[in-house]
Amino acid sequence: MNPTTDAARTEHLVTTMSERMTTLTRTLSSWMQEQEHSLADVEHHVVRLLKELGASLVAGLCSLAAAAQPSPSVSCSCGHQAAYQRERKAQVTTLLGPISIWRSYYLCAACAQGQHPLDAQLQFCAGSRSAALDELLALLGATQDSFVQATTVLERLTLVHVSANSVRDATEHLGVLLLEQQPQPQSERAPRLSARATSTASPRRLYITMDGVLAHLHERGWSELKVGCCYHTRSRVDRKRPERLEIRAQSASYVTALEEARAFGWRLWQEALRRGLLSSEEVVVLGDGAHWIWNIAEQHFPRAIQIVDWYHASEYLWNAASAIWGEASSKRGEWAHDQLDLLWEGKVCEVLSELETWRERGEAVLAALSYYTEHQTRMDYASYRARGLQIGSGSAESACKQLVSARLKQAGMIWDASGAEAVAVVRAWLLSERWEEAIALRGVRRRGYRRKQVEVEQPRSEGRGQTGEQQSVVVERQAEGSRQALSAEVLAQVQAELAQGRGKNGWGRAWRVQRQRQLAAQTEERSQAIAA
Ligand SMILES: [Zn+2]
Repeated sequence: MNPTTDAARTEHLVTTMSERMTTLTRTLSSWMQEQEHSLADVEHHVVRLLKELGASLVAGLCSLAAAAQPSPSVSCSCGHQAAYQRERKAQVTTLLGPISIWRSYYLCAACAQGQHPLDAQLQFCAGSRSAALDELLALLGATQDSFVQATTVLERLTLVHVSANSVRDATEHLGVLLLEQQPQPQSERAPRLSARATSTASPRRLYITMDGVLAHLHERGWSELKVGCCYHTRSRVDRKRPERLEIRAQSASYVTALEEARAFGWRLWQEALRRGLLSSEEVVVLGDGAHWIWNIAEQHFPRAIQIVDWYHASEYLWNAASAIWGEASSKRGEWAHDQLDLLWEGKVCEVLSELETWRERGEAVLAALSYYTEHQTRMDYASYRARGLQIGSGSAESACKQLVSARLKQAGMIWDASGAEAVAVVRAWLLSERWEEAIALRGVRRRGYRRKQVEVEQPRSEGRGQTGEQQSVVVERQAEGSRQALSAEVLAQVQAELAQGRGKNGWGRAWRVQRQRQLAAQTEERSQAIAA
């Protein structure tokens, strides 16, 4: 007899799962007693069997989410009613491997659109991967050396096998979604609104640094991905040289994109706003000599202190020293150190005069002259040091390595432009410690989270529909949330959904596969009778 009440269906699932667990334990016990096994053998064996059991439990719980008796019709987006047709099976690959879910299929006679309400409720796509598995794939796809390696790691960790293309797809899909989260050049008003709310701490000093790094692309050859980094610093006295301050970057966050400087400027500006640009007492822009960096600084951070990276500036002097004295000469080092001392003391004019006297010694001297002339106002290192400012753009270079080089520049790698950008963006969110936020945004974008979120915000509201105003509340909330607030919000949302799920659908309002098949057969019989 098929259980038809919620309680009976729950009880049926409990009994089935308990029986399977009992059988499993008995089988394992006799397997253990038959011959000797190592702990590793036992672990692997148990994990594999528990995974299979877990997959059955997930499928069973999903079937409980459906109504015991499918309603004869549901609303269609066209405004008409879609009529119940039959039960259909969906395959989904989950964290516990592939599972099958039976669900009701409805068809609208007016617009010929079909739908499976349970798919929307459980937020999955038939024939695809679950959101939880996709999250893991994106994480591995962005952090392992290659998509193929990611499949190996996944299989070792979860015993689930997927193709390298599935990893690529999940990673790039998340990357594209995250890129869309960042501002478009035209949307001047929106960032400003959200900026006020997203400034979390009010740091005294905000550092902004940027750089470019090349990746090999199919369509365009070697192309530059731009990388930006916003951070605060922490200073302490250098142990080895107590006269010096050791200034370290902390709480760095990153943006990256394969785009022109103009668009990238807006993107970085938005990130700086999120990091408290408007509430910072001081803003420092650090970079090498690339023109686009200083154009962005002028346009988006006009009140910032501009500092040319100390190490790039030094490099020009060393190159000039080689041109003047020759690589092997001991004079080379002596001269360079003298000039570096002047530079360290902020005496750029004296360095320039010295370089001027060696002008005829060729390209390297001319390059140094031009660099020092152009960036003279960004090289007041003595004053920067006196104020405790960082003078090296190491954070930008390390960002380039971490976001791009470490993953996109493995031997022989050539990327599609969109894939390279997407993977770098996923890494940027991960390294900015915004993974949870990224995954939450993905959920919000994809499916019916919005309505539920409104209900979390307004727990007393009984209305099921969502007004435009409510929608804008949600959108504002999303934009406003600081990292901490957002995590709290996500947690509250999940808790509320769980609570709601219990009340509204009840894990206990499930129905069994046999029952569904029976209903499907009855419908078929009916339609055959009509046809006859
Ligand atoms: Zn319709």
